[in-house]
Amino acid sequence: MNQTFEFKTESKRLLDLMIHSIYTNKEIFLRELISNASDAIDKYHFLSLSQEEIQTQEKYEIVVETNEKKRVITISDNGIGMTYEEINDSLGTIAKSGTLEFLEKLKKENKNDLQTIGQFGVGFYSAFMVAKKVEVDTKSPYSKEAYRFSSTGEDTYQIEEIKKEGVGT
Ligand code: ADP
Ligand code: MG
Repeated sequence: MNQTFEFKTESKRLLDLMIHSIYTNKEIFLRELISNASDAIDKYHFLSLSQEEIQTQEKYEIVVETNEKKRVITISDNGIGMTYEEINDSLGTIAKSGTLEFLEKLKKENKNDLQTIGQFGVGFYSAFMVAKKVEVDTKSPYSKEAYRFSSTGEDTYQIEEIKKEGVGT
């Protein structure tokens, strides 16, 4: 008898282990989320130079806001955003880096002049070190709809359709 099985994982435990072995300071989540915002803006800008359907933005910005009363920190960008598939691929698959994939694609096209920070595919999850709940509202220029990913960092996440002005996350 010769069968192949897939390992079962407890994603919450795996996330905890991974995050705590990589990060010693909880505050690092802010750097990771700002890095992702910056990566997303780089991607948008890069694609706007080569694809006509992606309009150049007048102003690229990353905004960090806090609401002490509601205990919410919001990091927003007007970068490339994510389609429904990309949410599942990038946020729903632990240790899968959309940025690494993006760089590999560029390498194949011999256009590897873009320096992007992300490539480990775990930075996003550092948000769960400090947050009970993480929500990602996002709109891609390649998608008509906008979506919200939400998770408490346990074994599931939800995606719902939302209304959102402009592309970005
Ligand atoms: P990395 O940045 O190393 O690729 P992360 O865990 O930080 O890994 O993020 C995973 C992926 O999620 C990114 O590669 C990207 O594809 C997607 N992502 C995260 N944040 C954003 C964002 N603000 N805008 C667009 N895509 C994002
Ligand atoms: Mg990152």
